[in-house]
Amino acid sequence: MSEESRLRESICRFGSLLYLRGYAHGSSGNISVRLGDGILVTPTNSCLGLLDPAQISKVGMDGALVSGASPSKEAFLHLAMYGERSAARGIVHLHCTHAVAVSCRCHEDMTDVLRPFTAYHVMKVGKLPLVPYYRPGDKSLAEAVRMKARDHSAVLLANHGPVVSGVSLEDAVYSIEELEETAKLAFLLENRAVSLLTPAQVSELNATFPS
Ligand SMILES: [Zn+2]
Repeated sequence: MSEESRLRESICRFGSLLYLRGYAHGSSGNISVRLGDGILVTPTNSCLGLLDPAQISKVGMDGALVSGASPSKEAFLHLAMYGERSAARGIVHLHCTHAVAVSCRCHEDMTDVLRPFTAYHVMKVGKLPLVPYYRPGDKSLAEAVRMKARDHSAVLLANHGPVVSGVSLEDAVYSIEELEETAKLAFLLENRAVSLLTPAQVSELNATFPS
């Protein structure tokens, strides 16, 4: 099997996994991997639970369709993030419920909207900045994502959902799952006394496990 065929299969497998876990509903969410000369990305209006490897869209880094079905209308978000993160090989964007709920809340500190409850979150997601709201399809969102993606592997789009990159698709999937589960914790622990990791503990993690 060629590397591209393997990656097509991988997108479908992880799409199904995310769908079955309840992280994607209807035709929401999209997944991509980087190729040498562009990206593979899930098609527009596709259900992540029902992807077909042969239908996955192949798109140039300029966004032009090379082959396959029409790409997700959010493919430009993926291209913006790949443009800023040269080591990124996979990106997942979801409308997963708890992360979207966090994205709809008012935040005093927009540079990091999930608190450091656990070491795993700090290691897999790190600081999570909120990107201001833009209407669907507004290409200004690409520039807003680009600005945050320079220093962050994960961003949260206001009133929309998370976009997470990884050094592989597997890495991006596991990180966005961690992000969604941490968002769940934020609601479970709301209005309760919470012991957060201290800034020193977060610094130690970042020094021991650099991203
Ligand atoms: Zn979206």
